[in-house]
Amino acid sequence: MKSDPRDYQLDIRSADIDVPHLQAQRAEGKRPYLRVLFACCSVYQRVYRSGDGKRYDARCPKCGKSARFMVGEGGSDEREFVVE
Ligand SMILES: [Zn+2]
Repeated sequence: MKSDPRDYQLDIRSADIDVPHLQAQRAEGKRPYLRVLFACCSVYQRVYRSGDGKRYDARCPKCGKSARFMVGEGGSDEREFVVE
């Protein structure tokens, strides 16, 4: 794949992974999400966590540019990102 998505690292374990009651919230449709601004097209996109809880895959709705936010230790606490 030539157009590799940019990789980001997030640390959201303490926020929403190991907390049982949040698992229940997830079942109710309250999945965690990020707000991503695609600067390429000036579009905000809400990006929901993947089914396995390990990443967020963002894609610009206008030009298709993609970015991957990995969930892991030592990452960012931010929930809003700008993809340039
Ligand atoms: Zn775009």
